[in-house]
Amino acid sequence: MAITEAQFMDDYKTRMLEMYSSSITEASKSQQYRVLASVVRDYYAKHWQETKTRYQKEDDKQVYYFSIEFLPGRFLPQNMLNLGIQDIVANGLNKLGIDLNHIIEQEPDPGLGNGGLGRLASEFLDSAASEGIAMHGNGIRYQYGLFKQEFINGYQVELPDDWLRNGNIWEVRRENRACVVHFGGHVWLKEDSFGKNHAIYENAEDVIAVPYDIGIVGYHNEVVNNLRLWSAELPYNEHQRYTLAEKQKVNEITQILYPDDSNYEGRLLRLKQEYFFVSAGVQSIVRSYRRHHRNLDDFGEKISIHINDTHPAMAVAELMRVLMDNESLSWEKAWNITEQVMSYTNHTLLSEALETWPEDMFAQTVPRIYQIVQEIDRRFRLKMVPLYGAELVQSVAPIADGYVRMAYLAVIGSHSVNGVAKIHSQLLQDSVLNGLYRMYPERFNNKTNGITFRRWLEVANPNLTNLLDNQIGQKWHKSPHFLRSFEVVAKDKDVLKKLAAVKHRNKVAFANYVQEHLHERINPKAIFDVQIKRLHAYKRQLLHVMYIIDEYLQIKSGQPLPNPRVHIFGAKAAPSYRYAKQIIKLINALAEQINHDPDVKNQLKIIFVPNYGVSLAEKIIPAADVSEQISLAGKEASGTSNMKLMANGAITLATMDGANIEMFDAVGSENMVTFGLTVDDVENYQNYHSADFYSKDQRIQRILNALVDGTIKDIESEGRDIFNSLVQYNDQYFLLADYESYAQAQEKIDMLYQKPDCWGKMMAYNVANSGRFSSDYTVIRYAEDIWHAKVPASIE
Ligand SMILES: *Cc1c(COP(=O)(O)O)cnc(C)c1O
Repeated sequence: MAITEAQFMDDYKTRMLEMYSSSITEASKSQQYRVLASVVRDYYAKHWQETKTRYQKEDDKQVYYFSIEFLPGRFLPQNMLNLGIQDIVANGLNKLGIDLNHIIEQEPDPGLGNGGLGRLASEFLDSAASEGIAMHGNGIRYQYGLFKQEFINGYQVELPDDWLRNGNIWEVRRENRACVVHFGGHVWLKEDSFGKNHAIYENAEDVIAVPYDIGIVGYHNEVVNNLRLWSAELPYNEHQRYTLAEKQKVNEITQILYPDDSNYEGRLLRLKQEYFFVSAGVQSIVRSYRRHHRNLDDFGEKISIHINDTHPAMAVAELMRVLMDNESLSWEKAWNITEQVMSYTNHTLLSEALETWPEDMFAQTVPRIYQIVQEIDRRFRLKMVPLYGAELVQSVAPIADGYVRMAYLAVIGSHSVNGVAKIHSQLLQDSVLNGLYRMYPERFNNKTNGITFRRWLEVANPNLTNLLDNQIGQKWHKSPHFLRSFEVVAKDKDVLKKLAAVKHRNKVAFANYVQEHLHERINPKAIFDVQIKRLHAYKRQLLHVMYIIDEYLQIKSGQPLPNPRVHIFGAKAAPSYRYAKQIIKLINALAEQINHDPDVKNQLKIIFVPNYGVSLAEKIIPAADVSEQISLAGKEASGTSNMKLMANGAITLATMDGANIEMFDAVGSENMVTFGLTVDDVENYQNYHSADFYSKDQRIQRILNALVDGTIKDIESEGRDIFNSLVQYNDQYFLLADYESYAQAQEKIDMLYQKPDCWGKMMAYNVANSGRFSSDYTVIRYAEDIWHAKVPASIE
């Protein structure tokens, strides 16, 4: 972007005056942030408008990514980077007496997602804009984001995240683009004099969906795509008054994000949220298409709607509704278009996460959609029973046994179904979606997840970015594959020394952060062993905790550790997930005890950073030495924190699960430490008896006994419950079966860390081979294979 420092300073001062009638020094930090955000927004406003007009004029295919979550992280640093103005802004502000880094911290991190799923949606938006792909987000403008996590006496406490309190500079309210969404009531079809059916709604509850648009700025390419988030409001009507209760009932639809990421939430409000943003999204797409096209003949060639996990699966039926009821298309014509338009990504194999709605709740809440799903079901059975038999068809039909099954609806209504890592896509075909795979094998494909290096290296890790730029140039900024050349460059001992120095500097920076915010001293020379992700039993934070207890007992018995270690955790637990919260309490109790035990003498520390989110990830990841990716094989669909940590030079300690397997293919056994049961081992495990491991393995016995014999203070029922889950209730996620192998892997880490040359080479290999996990490539593959959308800049 062509802007000078002087021009920027002028813009900033003027805007400060316009917005707050204030001088720069009088303004609060938060005001200083909003002024800066507003100036930066102006710098891309024209590109935003021009991108829209260009898409219309060129009539390119438009892709709409429907997702109930987006986790964008702070917009300010990303937008400045993508506009190429971060140095100008930093220097200009500096001359005005403002530290840009302090201003960046003022932006509330929008927590409109739980974890990986929402983060992926945002990585894709960033990558698509940066590749010039016409892809837009469609989601919900939650008034409150994911809860803010605090620890009180070691317990997780959830506080509301009022992220919109001071307004959101990046969004534009477009009430002129509002839509009406119908809930409930009765719907019946009335035939007109031409024999066409019309849907008549009686006693329906009408809700207005108002869109708020956020520009998604591409990297150095003047492209700005759109993220459209919908907010629920009452219909505006001069003659009708509403009670407060009625208003609250409507506002409730977009008030809160459900704070659970791996469990199906069967509540009515969730169903309403899903239909709300799907219906508004579909209506606005068709309406906008109709403004520029005479008929819908080419709709299927010009529009793609992507269903990110099953939450937006009603898009299949909603598009059918709009095409038939509003646009008077026949079922057959509408169905052909719908199949062509829709594509679906599955994100999980966990059975408890598969959405199924009770048929009567579904029928009462979205009666017209229910009718259409019934008809989809009827036609599916009619066609498939003669080919595959009643039993198989019943097992995968959209409606069966009193439930509407969203994953099956999504597959049947789409032309493409993908998993998010090779192993995950394979398991989908073999197990969860096997019935549908037999019927539609050509629909199934894999798209391994990815991350954006702009945020996870350029924004989060400027030290490493500088080193890479100096050693291999800047081509990797546009095409992360070029990081490969670092592998050769890093054969030079000098470069490895610089790489180690960068890691050390990042660890010092994180240690300072921990000192300032958590009042705990950590030694930057220790191994920083990091596990950051949602707290869930299948992710097995508890396995990591078992090893910490093991280390602690070792120290207490008089044996020092080979290397000092800092175990760093970041994790939120769903508020209703008792077991996960017990593990949080256990980690905090252990931290309290170990961090203050004089016998430990700083050999061992536990840092549990509260309120894990994108902004904290940006601080932790550059400082990590070890990346814990230790889910039970077959449970983690892909993982993406594994990729972020790899790109930042952490060594992965992993089971053969999700994308870990592809990372292993990329760096080989010399550069990654793997352990544990494989997917096949788990599948073929005959008669697992966890209690046998407890009774036969002394080490496991000592560790687990510490949970219940008072060794670990300040846990009561938690220790006993966790013990029981592992010993009495047969350890659902095979921790005890994997423990020995995990402990050996940890010992291997210690051994490798003691050889700095070797460790440095591993770091370099990981950074150099992480480029393949760029979400830029992932999105290009979606665009080419699934959406058939234009990919303008063919990348090198
Ligand atoms: C990347 C990311 C995740 C996903 O982490 P996994 O370890 O892949 O589950 C979750 N939350 C945040 C804030 C992230 O940035």
